[in-house]
Amino acid sequence: MKSRIKKYIPGEKWVIPVNGWDRLAQGVRESQFTLGNGFIGSRGILEEIPYDAHPGTYIAGIYDRMGSKVSDLVNLPNPINFKISIGGERLDVSIMPNVRHQRYLNMKHGILARHTIYETAHKNKIDYQSARFFSMKDKNIAVMRIYLTPLNKPCTITIDSDIDTSVSNVSGISEGRTKHFKIRHVVSSEEKTISYMEGQTLRSKISVSYAHTLNISLGSKEWFSKEENLVLKLKKGQTAVFTKFCSVFTRDESESFDIKNKAIKTLEKYIALGYDELLERHCSSWEGLWRQSDIKIKGNREIQRKLRFNIYHLLIAGIDNDGRSSIGAKTLSGEGYRGHIFWDLEIFILPFFMFVNPPIAKSMLLYRAKRLEKAKEIAKSKGYSGAMFPWESALTGEEQTPSWARGLDGSIIKIHTHEMECHITADIAYSVYRYYVATEDNDFMLKYGYELLFETARFWSSRAIYNKMKKRFEIRGVIGPDEFHEDVDNNAYTNMLAQWNVFIAYGMFMRMKKKYPGNHAILIKKLNLTRREVKGWKDIISKMYINTIKDGITEQFDGFFKRKKVKITEFDEDLMPLIPRDIKLKNIGKYQIVKQADVLLLLYLLSDRYDLPSKKRNYRFYDPITVHKSSLSPAIHSIMASEAGQSAKSYSYFLMSLNTDILNLHRNTRLGIHAANLGGTWQTVIHGFAGMRIIKETLSFNPRMPKDIKGMSFFVQWKGFILHITIDKDVLKIKCFSKSSKKKSLKIRLFGKVFNISPGKTFISKKEKAKKEIHIISRKHMTDKLLGQYY
Ligand code: BGC
Ligand code: BGC
Repeated sequence: MKSRIKKYIPGEKWVIPVNGWDRLAQGVRESQFTLGNGFIGSRGILEEIPYDAHPGTYIAGIYDRMGSKVSDLVNLPNPINFKISIGGERLDVSIMPNVRHQRYLNMKHGILARHTIYETAHKNKIDYQSARFFSMKDKNIAVMRIYLTPLNKPCTITIDSDIDTSVSNVSGISEGRTKHFKIRHVVSSEEKTISYMEGQTLRSKISVSYAHTLNISLGSKEWFSKEENLVLKLKKGQTAVFTKFCSVFTRDESESFDIKNKAIKTLEKYIALGYDELLERHCSSWEGLWRQSDIKIKGNREIQRKLRFNIYHLLIAGIDNDGRSSIGAKTLSGEGYRGHIFWDLEIFILPFFMFVNPPIAKSMLLYRAKRLEKAKEIAKSKGYSGAMFPWESALTGEEQTPSWARGLDGSIIKIHTHEMECHITADIAYSVYRYYVATEDNDFMLKYGYELLFETARFWSSRAIYNKMKKRFEIRGVIGPDEFHEDVDNNAYTNMLAQWNVFIAYGMFMRMKKKYPGNHAILIKKLNLTRREVKGWKDIISKMYINTIKDGITEQFDGFFKRKKVKITEFDEDLMPLIPRDIKLKNIGKYQIVKQADVLLLLYLLSDRYDLPSKKRNYRFYDPITVHKSSLSPAIHSIMASEAGQSAKSYSYFLMSLNTDILNLHRNTRLGIHAANLGGTWQTVIHGFAGMRIIKETLSFNPRMPKDIKGMSFFVQWKGFILHITIDKDVLKIKCFSKSSKKKSLKIRLFGKVFNISPGKTFISKKEKAKKEIHIISRKHMTDKLLGQYY
């Protein structure tokens, strides 16, 4: 049988193929094969919706809360529904013997293609091929095309391709499944060729509308279906082509446009453009995205393909919508963590967008900045000043962490993250500053950035307690990134990021005063920020407690070194470490076992404050006791192993990060793709192997390529320039292009030396013998001298 879908399958480095039907892998495939465009995400279900399938259609920012204190990313009506019956028998891969079943995720163009041959109980062999996409160009449009051919006898088929409204959310531990919308209108156009359906979320009252139509092409005839259940007679060998077009719109309570008219008119416009044109527009948008964000790997096809899989999932999650919504812990590919937004966003995902697509990074920061008032309310409700961001966030910016959840062993546990995991506030401030350094986006800073930095610094001033006896500020009762240890005092990560937050706020306060005195005066008046208060920040900077350092190792929190020591000796078949069997999860806090990178993450984020020997010592100490029970961990260990000179270890952690969702390493990919890990994988390649870092506001390169990767090339955007980087063994080539910068040249640090490079020129540099790479800053308390170095 002729392949109709061949044209949708590019070269192997761009495709994830799957051969055969495996019911147990169904949920994992659905997450992996998610299609999307940042506005909408649609799980890669099979069109017949087999038993046990979990159709998932999510729109960024559409949450609802019903029967629970926290909201769910709503599972909306599913447009991917195409059920075919022959003589009452439904074509379904899960119940019929299928002669052939192959699927292909085309990552280059965001298309999901499939070829199945079914065999019915009456021995009808049916060739079924399909392709679908959610347009990257025209974000409200989805298109699906199906080619159906009876191979051995004529047959009569019945088709149901309506919007599937039977879907619901899996929700939390106590609620069971929840349907978060009601259907308000179901109508057809006058000619009956367009069907319209409108739903509304129950509490958040967001309207969602779908207009759709089915085009049929059979021999020389082509028409739009008017029937709900279409019946068609097909001759042996005759191919029917079905094309379903669907438009999707949302409207919240503050908007008043005619959503029905918009959905129908848009659909009509795109039908008039036609399938080929829509496909073309979609593909060329994808090609544009890849031009900015692809990393070309030399000499390793498998790594290339898998790396693209990770980047693909970042690209379908990113959206520039002025901060209306942002990216949840599982993107728009599943309901894990109810679609909530964590620090995963700033620390793990944002660097990718900041370097390849700054407008999306800006929108991600706007998402926080526009919810600053809510963060101030949270701080106030807990008796603090300034702004405290929620640990889990959804649409409104209120705290969304559930009180109870399932722990790693499946038992139900009380959750304290929202009360104690306060480092998220510093993580957000950290990224605002990084974004500013990378883009020099003064407009953003003046409208939102400075205010966010000042209000978060204010929060830390009230959260840190002055210990008069010891003459230092302490942050007590927290959870650091390692959630195995709750209610600890002085988690090093939290203390140091909080101090950094205040440090940056102070420096930026001075910078703003000098450069934008007018705006500065208005802002401090608005925030009622007194000289005395700002002077107090200097006190926090210089007197923040820096944790005990024993043999060069930073103690993760007060008393960590006194917890019981353990040896991790067992690993699962994917080489993921196992918690020793005799340790019960409820007691894990009593041991020196770390859930995920904590001190090591600190050493990575504030890299230029720690010298190489201390990084090496900390890596050697923390690596053997970290069990990576969060996908946020292996990428950081890969980068730190690479800095510590442990190239083989670094590569194996990179593989763990790279394979997280391809191989379902955490056994929960069915709940959605691990968003932070996608960004983490990108960071291992760019910040780890390519050694691209921001050191004191300068972009620096010091590649440490693993032996299995011969070379790589990629583009990054930096301070209004575009840089094309090629790394080939020890040779680094940088080509500079001007994008929006008015400057004639750019300062770059290569292998430790600073150079100026100009647009239009290519700069070639070769790594000489090993050098001391990282600038060392005193570990003593920070002083004005240090502030002076930065500002
Ligand atoms: C996570 C926490 C989260 C909690 C509730 C836990 O599994 O580790 O970060 O707050 O679930 O969603
Ligand atoms: C991790 C957190 C993370 C959350 C969402 C948890 O398991 O411990 O650091 O933010 O998952 O990805």
